[in-house]
Amino acid sequence: MLVARTLADLRAACADLRRPAQALALVPTMGALHQGHRALVRAATASGAAPVASIFVNPLQFAANEDLTRYPRDEAGDLATLRAEGCALAWLPDLATMYPDGEATTITVAGPARHWEGAARPGHFRGVATVCAKLFGQVRPDQAYFGEKDWQQLQVIRRMVTDLLLPLRVVGVETVREADGLAMSSRNRFLSPQQRTQAPMLAAALRDVAERLAAGEAAPALLAEARAVLQRLDFAVDYFALVDGETLSPVNSAIPGARLIAAAGLGTVRLLDNIAAGQAAAYPRKIVDPA
Ligand code: AMP
Repeated sequence: MLVARTLADLRAACADLRRPAQALALVPTMGALHQGHRALVRAATASGAAPVASIFVNPLQFAANEDLTRYPRDEAGDLATLRAEGCALAWLPDLATMYPDGEATTITVAGPARHWEGAARPGHFRGVATVCAKLFGQVRPDQAYFGEKDWQQLQVIRRMVTDLLLPLRVVGVETVREADGLAMSSRNRFLSPQQRTQAPMLAAALRDVAERLAAGEAAPALLAEARAVLQRLDFAVDYFALVDGETLSPVNSAIPGARLIAAAGLGTVRLLDNIAAGQAAAYPRKIVDPA
């Protein structure tokens, strides 16, 4: 696996990989890699393109009160993981490369970025869109892979790529879950043992509502019930909503493409999850062997 830490090295590595006329598939990450990230690299590899993974903890997407300094970092472990997955190139830019002194340009997406995480974390999607645009400009991938785990982020990136006519395809990859249903996340390590036993209830609530929507129950009552149940279980529910899967606008029934999305705090950890609405049978819980 090639490892690039400067733009010059990146350009040389990308040129090498492209020489046999191979397409590049980018997997942007913030490191602390787990099975969810591995699934993205595998999907990128399966496309036939050369998989390129970036690792950059992006300060622009963290608000002042958020967890930038305690965000987990494990460069050696991450590089070993990427090597094991057959990644062709790891791109590890530093802060000065990503944010040159005096830069004047950031990217603001409205539309799908407006509600939910966009409202709870002002500036978050501006940071995500800006860093992804920079990564796309640096690597010039033919495809970029993002997890459905961050459903709203996936739609924001799709929208940016469409609006800015960027010459790449955005591919979403199904959420990888622990055996008990909890969506894998780099932040799960901050759950106490007690919170870890409670955390899968968020996914369970989403599945329950999806199944009952599919069975024809009315959305507003189901959503209110799920919020109340989670609150009783000590979740600080930020939102538990039924939305249009593309625009993220709230909807009142499980129209085609609708998505159930949720964010809830458990201790200091903000858990995010989502599921297709009204067709739970098509979304079996993904069991991952912890080994
Ligand atoms: P992060 O390192 O948390 O910024 O995530 C990098 C990419 O991995 C994003 O596209 C995430 O949506 C994706 N990702 C994170 N967790 C999972 C998961 N459990 N399953 C699938 N993709 C994930």
